[in-house]
Amino acid sequence: MRAFVKTKAEPGGTELREVPVPEAGPNDVLIKVKVASICGTDVHIYEWDSWAQNRIKAPLVYGHEFAGEVVKVGSNVQHVKAGEFVSGECHIACGHCFNCRNNMQHVCLNTKIFGVDRAGAFAEYISIPENNVWHNDPSLPPELCSIQDPLGNAVHTVFATDFATRDVAVLGIGPIGAMAVSVLKNCGASQVFAIGRKNQYRIDLAKAVGADFALSSNTDDVKGIIMKATNGKGADCIIETAGSVEAVDLGLDVMRSGGTFAMLGVFSKPMTLDLSKKVVFKYATIKGINGRLMYDTWYRMAGLFRIPRFREDMKKIITHRFRFDEFEKAMATMRSGQSGKVVMHLE
Ligand SMILES: [Zn+2]
Ligand SMILES: [Zn+2]
Repeated sequence: MRAFVKTKAEPGGTELREVPVPEAGPNDVLIKVKVASICGTDVHIYEWDSWAQNRIKAPLVYGHEFAGEVVKVGSNVQHVKAGEFVSGECHIACGHCFNCRNNMQHVCLNTKIFGVDRAGAFAEYISIPENNVWHNDPSLPPELCSIQDPLGNAVHTVFATDFATRDVAVLGIGPIGAMAVSVLKNCGASQVFAIGRKNQYRIDLAKAVGADFALSSNTDDVKGIIMKATNGKGADCIIETAGSVEAVDLGLDVMRSGGTFAMLGVFSKPMTLDLSKKVVFKYATIKGINGRLMYDTWYRMAGLFRIPRFREDMKKIITHRFRFDEFEKAMATMRSGQSGKVVMHLE
């Protein structure tokens, strides 16, 4: 089969190769990939930053966001059949550690991620454990089903807050931030403030999927605008997807006392914060978010996909579509920042 393989431990270093179709072990399911989408994680692997250098062992077929059709199941597989339309939860949990046994499989202490620690989805076929298979609604377009990994991050983060009827600020409006805006507006948040920095393309996208205010922290008086719109109260909840010191600082500034701050962004370095002023005396709740709840988040996504307006929003967030063999073009588009989600069609 054809697969995009990180062959060299260097920036770029990706080749379209002919590789064997993966084995489906007794507990695994072999899936023919119809659509794969590019994640921020894939950009890290492509660019070969310090995270990738420490984590990735080349050669690796990367990619972990996909939708496809089951073609073969292992001998122990009971709940998945050939022909079914599926996606996959990319965190493979061990099932035995403290976290797994306490309903926190999403932070399993022995997590393996396909496309990171084992062969992934930038390929014609992928093999994943039966436990990680998610059955999609067959009436949904494959490209919508392929973006459930980042959408699940957004859903998990939003539902970690008490957002319904509340004023919510989303800091960081890459694809996950834009998805969070749509989830909030479709699930009953009051005013949603989407806050980016310089990237007008993404500020416009946040507006297009329903943000009441789409702002730039570079040029707009974000705090003034939020305080005015909330009668001096501030935002009740903060959804943080930026992974920057400035975003956290601004988020805590615009959050009201007793608010909830859900943090999904990954920070490249430690940061300094005035915790007394911004957290303790503010009676703030800060929640770290990782992955997707298995499988609460996935059921919530299935529910969201039944809302027509939500499906339309997700179609807007997928801004670029490429053929599979146009991987380099797709990656360049993703890296330009002038895009929402970028997907590749294999058929
Ligand atoms: Zn992803
Ligand atoms: Zn575990």
